[in-house]
Amino acid sequence: MIRTRFAPSPTGVLHIGGARTALFNYLFAKKEKGEFLLRIEDTDKERSKPEFEKDIIESLKWLSLDWDGEIIYQSKRLALYEEELKKLLDEGKIFWCPHRKEELEIEKQGQIIRKESPRHFCDFREGGGEKGILRFKNDTKEKITFQDLIRGEISFEAELLGDFSIAKSFKEPLFLFANSLDDSLLGITHVIRGEDHISNTPKQLMILKALGLRKPEYAHLPLILGKDKSKLSKRHGAAAVYEYKEQGYLFQTMVNFMALLGWHPENEQEIFSKEELIEKFSIKRVQKAGAVFDLEKLNWLNKEHIKKTDNKTLVDLFSPFLKQEWRKNPEYLGKIVELEKPRIAVLKDIADKIDFFFEEPEFDKNILKWKETQSFEEVKENLSEIRELLKEIPENEFIQSKIEKILLPFADKKGRGEVLWPLRAALSGRRQSPGPFEIAEILGKEKTLKRIENALSLMK
Ligand code: GLU
Repeated sequence: MIRTRFAPSPTGVLHIGGARTALFNYLFAKKEKGEFLLRIEDTDKERSKPEFEKDIIESLKWLSLDWDGEIIYQSKRLALYEEELKKLLDEGKIFWCPHRKEELEIEKQGQIIRKESPRHFCDFREGGGEKGILRFKNDTKEKITFQDLIRGEISFEAELLGDFSIAKSFKEPLFLFANSLDDSLLGITHVIRGEDHISNTPKQLMILKALGLRKPEYAHLPLILGKDKSKLSKRHGAAAVYEYKEQGYLFQTMVNFMALLGWHPENEQEIFSKEELIEKFSIKRVQKAGAVFDLEKLNWLNKEHIKKTDNKTLVDLFSPFLKQEWRKNPEYLGKIVELEKPRIAVLKDIADKIDFFFEEPEFDKNILKWKETQSFEEVKENLSEIRELLKEIPENEFIQSKIEKILLPFADKKGRGEVLWPLRAALSGRRQSPGPFEIAEILGKEKTLKRIENALSLMK
């Protein structure tokens, strides 16, 4: 059975890159009717923080990337790593290197960054070193080659990798070691991860070989780039997953958007539900080249997913972005949401768009003129006539179709722009808004007439 995992280190909140990795592992596993595991790589005691772990878990839940079984914590598996480290030491495959860790390397983001020349073979590799750190005795002379499912064959000169570090002590395994051991022990068949891990793979293959363990298949995902093709950053609009949630992107949008960061379907389809993605996803269609993060596309997708969402759900989703007193009447809100839905890109935008339904708008009288050339005299005349016509409609028949029927003949006579623009502006107080008939119905007869009155008095 296919089994993948997402293996975040809780040293920061979940960003779009990590979430994309989780998604691809999820889609691949689900497509193959396999399992998707969540493994928290929390062996770095100083840098792992419970709040980051919480953020990662909450973000995955929000994205609906549900993992199978219990979460696996590396910090609970230390005894197991220790046992394997001791075995390797007994077999002479690893050794104690007395050089202080800081002299050799610095560890950053679970990656080892060497300060020294990479061609480093330790003087204590045959033994005699005491304490210090544990390093892998790299005696491999030949090339290490593996078939990456996305990039094809990848080779490394093993010698150039030197004797690399794998643990700070028996109880403090480093990423390279714990990660590869767990992949094998947990029966992970496919490791799908960011391309920044490519250089770790040959070392991990050496470790697995030394342990006599089965190796997984590897697939390294392309980098995510900004529109200017530089590495993705905040400045391109990239944010932590929870920030997208706070701004009002739907989780369906995020899943759809992230899937397209490196993967493309066979046709031109762009809008996908998670279920469709599971059905269509294929690792063969993941590109090698960097995937460009396009904020406009994200906003467009969000609009599309909002349109697909039913009004009741939308009212709930919009609620956190609305003033307390606006939330009192869900039915009224439902009508507004229905009307504004096609115009909203991000949920948080709604508050600015619908305030006039709840509060009388304040505006400059100039916006009542359809065109610069329209005189206030004419606007006044038209609004007064509208007022008289609307007064005739009984309160309980004050609906869009009826209002339209009553006003259109007059508008057709005097010019639609000349009549309907001033009405719309009087009702919304804006240059842009939904049409006047729709707004009038939602506001109701009383408020509609009051706003026309207000507009008239502005022009006195
Ligand atoms: N903990 C590693 C990271 O967050 C996992 C890398 C991997 O997927 O193998 O980068």
